[in-house]
Amino acid sequence: MEEHNVAAALEHFASYKDEYLSDLKNLVRIPSVSFPGFDAVSVRQSAEAVAKLLTRSGLKDVRTLETGAGHPSVFGQRIEVPGRPTVLLYAHHDVQPPGREEHWNSPPFEPTERGGRMYGRGVTDDKAGVIMHAAAVRSYLASVQTLPVNVKVLIEGEEEIGSANLESLLENHRDLLTADVVVIADSENFDSGYPSLTVSLRGIVTVNVEVRSLASSVHSGTWGGPLPDPVLALSRMLAALVDDQGRIAIPGMLDDVRPLSAAEKAGLDNLPFQESTYRKQTKLLDNAHIVGGSGSVYEKMWYAPSLSINAIEASSRKQAANIINDSAWARVGVRIVPDMDSQKTQELLIDHLKKNAPWGVTVTITPESPAPWWRMATQGFAFEAAVAALEKGYGKKPAIIGGGGSIPFVRTVTEALGGVPALLVGVGDPYTAAHSENENLLISDWENACRSIIHLLHELASRK
Ligand SMILES: [Zn+2]
Repeated sequence: MEEHNVAAALEHFASYKDEYLSDLKNLVRIPSVSFPGFDAVSVRQSAEAVAKLLTRSGLKDVRTLETGAGHPSVFGQRIEVPGRPTVLLYAHHDVQPPGREEHWNSPPFEPTERGGRMYGRGVTDDKAGVIMHAAAVRSYLASVQTLPVNVKVLIEGEEEIGSANLESLLENHRDLLTADVVVIADSENFDSGYPSLTVSLRGIVTVNVEVRSLASSVHSGTWGGPLPDPVLALSRMLAALVDDQGRIAIPGMLDDVRPLSAAEKAGLDNLPFQESTYRKQTKLLDNAHIVGGSGSVYEKMWYAPSLSINAIEASSRKQAANIINDSAWARVGVRIVPDMDSQKTQELLIDHLKKNAPWGVTVTITPESPAPWWRMATQGFAFEAAVAALEKGYGKKPAIIGGGGSIPFVRTVTEALGGVPALLVGVGDPYTAAHSENENLLISDWENACRSIIHLLHELASRK
């Protein structure tokens, strides 16, 4: 019976997918840029359009959720199958600014199809996600009049500007939003036609370092020799952060890194890797080495900490003169992974920088607020349901991947809901150009992704 329902929903989706695609186009036509300086009315219009869409999809209690002076989110639910899990489907309806209009091959807010892809701002990030959820719900309700699980939908309006009000929104609507599992449709696939489940995200710890030895810059010829150069001092401090292989050399910092299990290692080894493709994607120059010692590139990007110097300032190219600078400044970032503690990492970083400061220079270190890592268990009902659903939706086993970057709201959502599992799926591929000009959606993968969500609702019901 239940299997029959999935088949009916899939069949319904197949017959109506053009309609869902035109729903997507209609959303893309609303320039819902949430950034300051853009028309907030458009974001509200977008929220209203999403609310209409959710209602038309068969969801109940549809309403906008306000966040003080922030942009509205949209909520809807269908709670009708007692004893079944409740699934919170998340996506966001706000978008990035269009960028440089002259770089777009077609207008950013006029969705245009070319070569199997649809172009437009937000077409993938994340209006495709909005439609995936709505289409999955409607495909069941319009065919078999029932959903396999209880469904709640939250479509945020401020993701692209950092989800500043999401925590209070979750706080204020705790009962409304409570769920057993959350599905976040806002990630990218490993490759075109290659579905992926993102099971971890790195966090980040950032500090600003200022080194000072003189009250003001002086002539390097007249005075140079006995004076401590703060730029050299900073260089020595920064150089001491890594070893000859480019690995983090801060004592204690790697102690808490959770080793990968044999199965996780094998999973990474099974992902296709081509150095030439990797070099192209990362824009790495021909003679430059891949650093960081042994271990695969994927392991280093997703499951190991990394350290980078984001910026250095001491005089400038334009003003380079024969001087000893009075001060030097740098911003240092460390990407952190399970089970590193952000506070401890920050302290170890600061201590190491200070300990390596030579010649009595004055060191001032200002930390920025850190973002935690996130990692889900690669077992249990939610994980297994997602793997099965993605394989059925795309006809290919999903890649289990990590994300090297930080998405703080994932942890915000899962923690607010009491530590529930989060399934990070999405429809972008390496050619999607999200946040850039000519953002585009591979339409065939969007159909695969919609089918996956249809399967996922059923898989979650049958495995919990
Ligand atoms: Zn997004």
